[in-house]
Amino acid sequence: MTIVANPGDIDRRLLMDRSVPGRRAFTLPESDVPAQEMPDSSLLRDDLELPEVSQLDVIRYFSVLSQLNFSIDTNFYPLGSCTMKYNPKINDELASLPGLADIHPLQPDETVQGALRLLTSLQDDLGEITGLPGVSLAPLAGAQGEYAGLLIARAYHESRNDAGRTVAIIPDSAHGTNPASAAMAGLDVVTVRSDDSGNVDVEDLRELADDRTAVFMLTIPSTLGLFEPNILEITKIIHDTGGLVYADGANLNALLGLVKLGDLGVDICHSNLHKTFSTPHGGGGPGSGPVMVSNELAKFLPKPVARKTENGYVLATPESSIGAINGFHGSFSIAARAYAYIKALGLEGLRSVSENAIIGANYIQAGLRDKYNLAADRYCMHETVLSATRQKKRGVAGLDIAKRLLDFGIHAPTMYFPMIVDEALMVEPTESESKETLDHFIAVMRQIDDEINSNPELVHGAPHDLPVTRLDEAKAARKPILRWTADE
Ligand SMILES: *Cc1c(COP(=O)(O)O)cnc(C)c1O
Repeated sequence: MTIVANPGDIDRRLLMDRSVPGRRAFTLPESDVPAQEMPDSSLLRDDLELPEVSQLDVIRYFSVLSQLNFSIDTNFYPLGSCTMKYNPKINDELASLPGLADIHPLQPDETVQGALRLLTSLQDDLGEITGLPGVSLAPLAGAQGEYAGLLIARAYHESRNDAGRTVAIIPDSAHGTNPASAAMAGLDVVTVRSDDSGNVDVEDLRELADDRTAVFMLTIPSTLGLFEPNILEITKIIHDTGGLVYADGANLNALLGLVKLGDLGVDICHSNLHKTFSTPHGGGGPGSGPVMVSNELAKFLPKPVARKTENGYVLATPESSIGAINGFHGSFSIAARAYAYIKALGLEGLRSVSENAIIGANYIQAGLRDKYNLAADRYCMHETVLSATRQKKRGVAGLDIAKRLLDFGIHAPTMYFPMIVDEALMVEPTESESKETLDHFIAVMRQIDDEINSNPELVHGAPHDLPVTRLDEAKAARKPILRWTADE
């Protein structure tokens, strides 16, 4: 038999397929305890098929497995709406220092003064960055920050005997969590349209805002990656009716050091530390979505809030707090990463984060706009939303383009979101990618557009070289195969 050289090939056999009877990955010392009787045989299987493999088999198997997924450490990951940028590894190390990692939430305040000082300082920095000085780090996700912020809005109206305000006005371009959080907070959701340029339709908003308006929720930058140019007019319309303005600042990395939400008339916002401030987002992993409010609303913040007192740092409960929204004080290790990130960059550094994020997205937009339609043909902020409608007319959908990108080692952008854009491909390069990477992405996207003319099957069939190609996503969700069986 001839062995064919296949440079760079890796062994993708499953662990079970590497099994050799009798092979072991461990050695145990001889037992020095009395043998125990086995349980009743009706509780035992005669035969349990387990892989019999060496240590090296196990290591190679899991190492290969860990490389089959795209990750931010291996591939460009331009996933819009959910910032997937490079986060310095040193912040993981700092958050793992024993004084930060080996403490317990039930420890007395006087034994964790350093940690409480860190939380206090992070609260101050987030207050400064957003221009909303009342900060609680308690929420465990962006959506929970929204929920807390909306409960604050309700508590504020109730405190003024104005509880008839039960409506949340939300643009059709909002992030999906916004209407969901509003409904959970017991508010009725009313949708305001976007106009042709992707802005909130101000005339529509004027009609909708009245004495039932509890809050207007604006994702900023919008899910179209746009700054809302009429924001001052909008906040005035809402304030004139007695409502509050909520800004979804999950992706603050377009605004850092450039715009303070409080200066725009925003009363409440949240931000995702696990997008903007050095913790990766994804996998449903731990999150942190601090809620920030104006001075006037600070007394309603969820507890606890870290404070400096004459007797040192403490975890305090604001005067009219909406209460606890989870067990303790939020995700401490994510707060520690955010603290390290903000202190290392300083205000100048933070501003350059945003400037680079915005320049990167606009560079890509400019490099592709003659080939791909834009959701809004104007400067974008940290992300650009392309629309593959011209490609669709030639028989290739946004999904096919996203799959073809995988062949070039590029993670797919966010697809078919926001839903108000046909064939949306939402691209966020982030501030941490080099010009060479952006040029490569632009070149690949242009080449894929050419391939649609010359060889559409190539795009339809993509990806071609990955361990799994096109998944039946409905079947994967309904009938997941979670373990190995001999007959699969
Ligand atoms: C990610 C995101 C959210 C939700 O954050 P989670 O931590 O996933 O709950 C809300 N709004 C916007 C704009 C987001 O990008």
